[in-house]
Amino acid sequence: MSSIKDQKKTIKINEIFYDIEGEGKYQGYPTLFIRVTGCNLRCKWCDTKYAYFNGKNISIKKIISIIKKSPYKNVNITGGEPLLYKKTINLITKKIKNKIITIETNGSISIKGIKADNISMDLKLPSSGESDKMILSNLKLLRPKDQLKLVIGSYEDMIYANKILKKYKVKSTIIAQPVYKKFKLINIKNFVLKNKLNWKVSIQMHKMFEKDV
Ligand code: SF4
Repeated sequence: MSSIKDQKKTIKINEIFYDIEGEGKYQGYPTLFIRVTGCNLRCKWCDTKYAYFNGKNISIKKIISIIKKSPYKNVNITGGEPLLYKKTINLITKKIKNKIITIETNGSISIKGIKADNISMDLKLPSSGESDKMILSNLKLLRPKDQLKLVIGSYEDMIYANKILKKYKVKSTIIAQPVYKKFKLINIKNFVLKNKLNWKVSIQMHKMFEKDV
């Protein structure tokens, strides 16, 4: 049970909205998105720069209420970087039953102790400019029900990811998807088949909606 003091704690939130999940194993499902403000990285191809600073403080109590009222099963706590608020987010997730909570994280903060149904972690690759910020020991903490995302912008990215994932035995699903308009999907398909990898090849579906495909 969280205390009344805990319930008054706040998180700086950039936006809360309903949309179709564009990535990962829940891709295609209507989802409540809660985007926190702030990120400790600056990826070259970041598409959520607007979340670096803007937002307003919302209490845990209010966020729990919004989640409970959502008509959808799936909830995605994203950013920015949600683990900047790790303890506060755990206070929220442990109060929620009957929802599937995904927490998206960039891989640069320890995922130890996160309470979520699905940890969706990035392994930032060289084209992001932030690959040296990864805590590689996180890879060993991913559970079979979690997912590891590789956002690929070059051949070098695939070679780099393959080398790291050969070293760290990752138990979660590995999802490989191209940086939108920067790298061809077919290149990932060919690399996965040529190297006999168990990566799930995917796309960023939310970008397709922008194009109205
Ligand atoms: S981790 Fe995510 S929000 Fe942060 S800079 Fe990279 S892409 Fe943007």
